[in-house]
Amino acid sequence: MEILHVSAECYPMAKAGGLGDVLGALPKYQERAGHIAKVVVPMYRTRYLYKKEWELVHEGHQQLGSYSFPYSVIRERSRELGFDLYLVDVNELLDRPNIYGYDDDPQRFLAFQVCVLDWVNSWKHRPDIIHVHDHHTGLIPFFMKYAHAFRDRLHDIPSVFTIHNAQYQGWLGWQHREWLPPHDEWKSGLLEWADQINPLAAAIKSAWVVTTVSPSYLDELRHQANGLEKLFEYEKGKCRGILNGIDAEVWDPQSDPLLIKNYSKEDPFLGKLANKESLCRQFGLDASKPLLTYIGRLVHEKAADLLPEAFYQCLHHYQARVSILLLGSGDPRLQSTFQEMAHRHKGLFGAYIGYYEELSHRIYAGADFLLMPSRVEPCGLNQFYAMRYGTLPLVRNTGGLRDTVVDMGDLNGFGIRFDQASVGDIVYSVGRALDLYEQDPGHMQSMQRHMMGFDHSWDRSAVEYLELYQSIR
Ligand code: ADP
Repeated sequence: MEILHVSAECYPMAKAGGLGDVLGALPKYQERAGHIAKVVVPMYRTRYLYKKEWELVHEGHQQLGSYSFPYSVIRERSRELGFDLYLVDVNELLDRPNIYGYDDDPQRFLAFQVCVLDWVNSWKHRPDIIHVHDHHTGLIPFFMKYAHAFRDRLHDIPSVFTIHNAQYQGWLGWQHREWLPPHDEWKSGLLEWADQINPLAAAIKSAWVVTTVSPSYLDELRHQANGLEKLFEYEKGKCRGILNGIDAEVWDPQSDPLLIKNYSKEDPFLGKLANKESLCRQFGLDASKPLLTYIGRLVHEKAADLLPEAFYQCLHHYQARVSILLLGSGDPRLQSTFQEMAHRHKGLFGAYIGYYEELSHRIYAGADFLLMPSRVEPCGLNQFYAMRYGTLPLVRNTGGLRDTVVDMGDLNGFGIRFDQASVGDIVYSVGRALDLYEQDPGHMQSMQRHMMGFDHSWDRSAVEYLELYQSIR
């Protein structure tokens, strides 16, 4: 089977979060299972672009309304990722240093989508599946069926849409309708939700099947989907929850080149300690205390707004008992609050504000506990990385966290779960973690070894996707 994945992110070319990790790993596992998986993303000006050699595979011309532009498609030459990675270059629109965050993001991703379809339309053969991810590529299933330029060759290729995050929907006012390629106007209702063009809703309505990145998240979307609850209820027959996996080669404490010291699940503790000591030296923290960490976007969905007060209370109540380290970026106000806290609580609290892939690996390895108090967590990958690196997850009982972490008080448990995204629940859970660390280190170590033995690699979920593709072909 030949699968074409279309996405805004793909690690290591472009990653802002879990979407990038998934696109960097799932195709590799699909290729290993004997299929052809290709990935196409926009050509941003990232470090990876300049480090690699690329070959030109296609040139074409497209337009958004009256704005007409040339584009090209290039392919990474060495195939080092284990699948073919293609980039779409549209001068001035896509070739920017960041993935997101520009005022014209709607035009940028619209241009990307029409270029991808125009390129695929020019292939001599056709892929067996077109798999699109999140709202940035959500108009593709609609255009494949109803855009005049593409429908003749593409309408009967099965399309799969995976929702990694339904909070962001790519809304576009109808006044911009002229940017869309000419299509069957009488089908325009499929593009709309709440009087706007809504690419996420359009994909849910138009794709052959829809998946979410965990089963619990799919259940939750029927009640909480940023305005699309009724649509999820209505379309539930074509929706499936398939849990994400991890790239067990990139995320392997035994061989991870970014760690200070590698370690195995048989004997993890000296290695973890070496990583912890180095982190604590870097951030001026006390390595003899348990190290509690947070890694992630500083946004409302992740409940990052609760962290300043929660950390303050932890430092206040458990002062001599815990060191805290945060790595994240997002809300500018939170960023400066954490910077200020790091200054005010020197020696107790450290923070790195920004995106820093290398540091994240060292934190997963060196930390004792990783906190994820998310209000919404479609799957979450951090808890998988934490488990693999022997770091106990403290998670809110939601979405993929509910599906993957078992509280240590339950049978075969290994983490800490709490119900509310609230300061009280976070502080109480940190208290449980500290008691465990101080009073029952034997139990803690056996849970760490237990978690490290889990196989959360893509092997299992890649098969689930392949079975899904087979079922719709
Ligand atoms: P989301 O995609 O919602 O942000 P996920 O848990 O699915 O959350 O994936 C987050 C990914 O992004 C993980 O690989 C995590 O390590 C990484 N990450 C998040 N913030 C940072 C950061 N500031 N620096 C480095 N890596 C980060």
